[in-house]
Amino acid sequence: MDLKTKAHLISVGKIELPETSRSTGPVSTAGPGAGENNVFFRSGGRRVRLSVVESSPLMLAELDEDEVVIIERGVEVARGSLEKPLFHCPRQAYITVSERCIYDCKFCAVPKLSGGVKSKEKVERMVAKAWDTGELEAISLTSGVERSAEEEVARVAEIIGALRRFDVPIGVSVTPALRSSEILKAAGADEIKYNVECLDPELFRRVCPGVSLEKIKMALLDAVSHFGKNRVFSNVIIGLGESDRALREGIEELAEMGVLPVIRAVYPHPLRRGEIEMIRPSPERLIDLAHYTKKVLEDHGLRGDLAETGCYRCTGCDLVPHMDL
Ligand code: SF4
Repeated sequence: MDLKTKAHLISVGKIELPETSRSTGPVSTAGPGAGENNVFFRSGGRRVRLSVVESSPLMLAELDEDEVVIIERGVEVARGSLEKPLFHCPRQAYITVSERCIYDCKFCAVPKLSGGVKSKEKVERMVAKAWDTGELEAISLTSGVERSAEEEVARVAEIIGALRRFDVPIGVSVTPALRSSEILKAAGADEIKYNVECLDPELFRRVCPGVSLEKIKMALLDAVSHFGKNRVFSNVIIGLGESDRALREGIEELAEMGVLPVIRAVYPHPLRRGEIEMIRPSPERLIDLAHYTKKVLEDHGLRGDLAETGCYRCTGCDLVPHMDL
C-alpha cells in the first residue's frame, strides 16, 4: 500500500466484508467510527482503518489465513493482512471512559450514543486483559463530558494513577479544564490531546456550539509548557466546508505552539446525517495537506514518529507525517 493508495482508502473510508467474515465482535466506542465495526488493514509498512458497512465500492477478499486483498470494481487495490485491535485499535488499549457528552459538536456521534461511564476498576480490568496478550504498547484514554470538564479531568487523573503499574506510555484526550494539563501530567500522563476540531473560526461556532476555539488554543499552549514539544496533539477535521486558507494558517499556528495537528477526514456518521455539510476529502487534498503539515512540523522542530500513544502512533485514520510520508 503506497501513500496514494492509503489516501484513496481513507477518502472512501468504508469497506464491505465477505459474509463469512463479518465481525460479530465488540463495536468501537472511540474515534470516527464510534458505534461501528472497523477493520485494520496493514500493507507495505502502513496501516489503515476502514468502517465495515453493507455497501461500499471497496470489498475485502480473503486469500488465506494471513493474506487479504482490497478490491474495487473488480480490480485489486492493495494486498496485505488484517490486524486485530486490542481495544479499539491494534497494540493499544484505547478506551473511552465517559461515552456521553454535554456538548453537541455536529460531527460527533458520542452525544447521540449516550453510552455509559466506565469505573476505574472496569478500565483497569480492560487494560489488564490487553496486557495479558503481550501486545500492549500504549494506553490511550479518551472521554466525553458527563457533567463538567473539571469532573472529567479528575476522573481520568484518578484512572491514570491506577494504570501506571502497567509499564507502557499513557496518552489522554479530554476537553480541557482549569489546570487540566498540570493535573493530568502530575497523575502520570505522558501525552495529551485537546481537539480544536475546526480551524475556521466562523465555521467553528456552527459545528461546536457552546465551545470556545480560543480557550482550546490557550489550553494547548499551556499543555506544551507541561508536557513539552512532540507530546501535545490536536484533531483537525477536514471536510466540514472549512476554507483552505484558515486551515493552513491554523495548522501553522498549532505547530508554532509546539502542537502536532492530527489531520482527520470527516466521518459522516449515520447518527449525524443531515445536520451539517460533511464531505470526505479527496485523496489529492489529503496528500497535499499531509505534505504541508509535515513541512510545517519540520519548520518548528516537531516530528510525527516520536509519538508514543494515540493516533500518531496508530496511524489508522490519517496520513501521518514521518510515519506515512
Ligand atoms: S488513528 Fe486514532 S481514531 Fe483512528 S483508529 Fe487509530 S487510534 Fe482510533
